[in-house]
Amino acid sequence: MWSVVDTGCPTDPTGRLCPRRWPVLPGGRIQGPWTFMRVRWARRVPRTAVTPVRFDRCERAHRAAGPAEEPPAGPGRGTTGQQAVQGACEITGEESPVPHWLFGDQLGPHFLDPARGGPHRDAPLLMIESRSVFRRRRFHRAKAHLVLSAMRHRAAELGSRVRYVKADTYREGLREAVGDARVTVRHPTSHAALALVRDLPSVQVLPARGFLVTHDEFRSWADGRGTKSLRQEDFYRWVRQTHDVLMEGDRPAGGRWNLDHDNRQPPPRGATSLGVPAPYRPRESDIDAEVRADLDRWERDGDVAFVGEDAPRAFPATRREALAALTRFLEHRLATFGAHEDAVLSQDSTMSHSLLSAPLNLGLLDPGECVERAEARWRSGEAPLNSVEGFVRQIAGWREYVWHVYWYFEEQYRASNVLRHHGALPGWFSDLSPGADGAHCLSSTLDQVRSTGWTHHIPRLMILGSFALQRGWEPGAVTDWFHRSFVDGYDWVMVPNVVGMSQYADGGRMTTKPYTSGGAYIDRMSDFCGSCRYRPTVRVGEEACPFTAGYWNLLHRHRERFERNARMAQAVRGLDRLSDLDALLEQERERRD
Ligand SMILES: Cc1cc2nc3c(=O)[nH]c(=O)nc-3n(C[C@H](O)[C@H](O)[C@H](O)COP(=O)(O)OP(=O)(O)OC[C@H]3O[C@@H](n4cnc5c(N)ncnc54)[C@H](O)[C@@H]3O)c2cc1C
Ligand code: SF4
Repeated sequence: MWSVVDTGCPTDPTGRLCPRRWPVLPGGRIQGPWTFMRVRWARRVPRTAVTPVRFDRCERAHRAAGPAEEPPAGPGRGTTGQQAVQGACEITGEESPVPHWLFGDQLGPHFLDPARGGPHRDAPLLMIESRSVFRRRRFHRAKAHLVLSAMRHRAAELGSRVRYVKADTYREGLREAVGDARVTVRHPTSHAALALVRDLPSVQVLPARGFLVTHDEFRSWADGRGTKSLRQEDFYRWVRQTHDVLMEGDRPAGGRWNLDHDNRQPPPRGATSLGVPAPYRPRESDIDAEVRADLDRWERDGDVAFVGEDAPRAFPATRREALAALTRFLEHRLATFGAHEDAVLSQDSTMSHSLLSAPLNLGLLDPGECVERAEARWRSGEAPLNSVEGFVRQIAGWREYVWHVYWYFEEQYRASNVLRHHGALPGWFSDLSPGADGAHCLSSTLDQVRSTGWTHHIPRLMILGSFALQRGWEPGAVTDWFHRSFVDGYDWVMVPNVVGMSQYADGGRMTTKPYTSGGAYIDRMSDFCGSCRYRPTVRVGEEACPFTAGYWNLLHRHRERFERNARMAQAVRGLDRLSDLDALLEQERERRD
């Protein structure tokens, strides 16, 4: 039933104590420690049949022996497959360690773990800070700061093992650092970066890291569906089963896969805040001061331009900070994550959200450890199932799904535009500077993006994205705007979230329906409308809510397509009951952004 991966522990050749010697289930799936112990118990596998895991002793030995550093525990280790447990030297066939190139979103220790497809433990490392990346687009200042700070902090931690090159382009940086010598790199996270490294003959691409499911596993799941469309819910259930997450035997914990019903509550009546402990915030270091000075200088020189405000760094830039943020969330905020997950409060922008997307996307956290530690909180009775399932769904469901959709639908997916929306984003939206007399929900959300580069999911989807969809802005331009303006924005995560989920530009390849609403939904789920100059129920006239009017206008414009969608048909029929539809359409034709 079991086989065991021998990862060649440096201090324990027998592997008897080594936590990297994971039991492997049929199909090549590697069990994390928590699931391992539980599955062994559930299947009554005798204790003597497999070596018990002893993390503490052996992890210390690994750390002392080499730079692989605390690889995060959890199902994330199980990116599985024989290739995933080969080191770079085995893949490249080199005898001496090949230099390894670390991208700026591959900063956690697990990207360097030789036992999980990483480079040789003695491989010299290379990091390239490319100025042209910032010249190409007007990024949010906080995002530029975070990425540079995280890269420079990582370089400082790695010390003499890393060569840190500041260059105009990646090609130049690579040439300067290693000339034509062979280099390995982990599978990058964007089509453009993958094309670049594949185009360089001296670069060898190692398996991707930082996700629970491998490309091959996803492809066989997706191809196995035949003509059925891809659906996040089905994928999520499959991940839970195959990675044994929140399962009780063959059944979902608590008997239900989906606790969304418990997690869609409006904000508590009359409250201005959820009243939960604040999220973790890091303290800046000398490296941040140096980054700030560099960005100021580049801006003064007219070399680059940013949007958004400079402010003290609010998101983790190191593994240590990322772990502190995860622990704070798990211990103080996870329990209240679920119930008001979809609600928005104008005075409490973070509510009970984790704010972990930035460190996850920088590679500072592994999704496996987040999921596993959240599950452990439920199993020990410290967090309710609706909150834990809601959080696990975001990480093991949505985040994984979005990553794989990005690669599965290939590069042309980005250009999808089935609704034929070609509008340009107005200057105030691009510059994050809404006028004072605008819609309260929109101006308040844009204010938050301007000052922090972050909002939680519902403002992104049901305010910013929904507004862009209703106005008919070009999906590619909307994607670019989100990518530039958010601290956690990367191509792989923006393209499916914006093109697919928020703009429905793919016609439903990744979601079942367009996500948009009138003002009534925003009124129910937030406290914005009370102090807005518009009324959520008014469709036409001075007080007409732009979301309500925009919603009906959108349904009218795409009536034919939307009435073929079972989840939209009833809403479309509502058009027939609008006595003021002509006036509304006229008003929307005249509307200036
Ligand atoms: C239009 C739009 C743009 C988005 N852009 C990004 C982006 O650039 N980067 C990004 O990481 N997420 C993006 N998301 C997804 C989601 O809104 C953010 O991950 C989340 O709001 C980040 O805040 P948090 O860490 O507090 O999340 P929580 O609410 O605490 O959720 C936990 C984690 O789940 C993951 N997650 C949840 N939903 C998604 C999703 N749809 N896609 C990917 N991961 C998800 C994130 O890693 C997040 O940290 C976008 C969503 C929309 C609708
Ligand atoms: S009335 Fe409309 S525009 Fe104003 S806050 Fe409510 S939903 Fe937003």
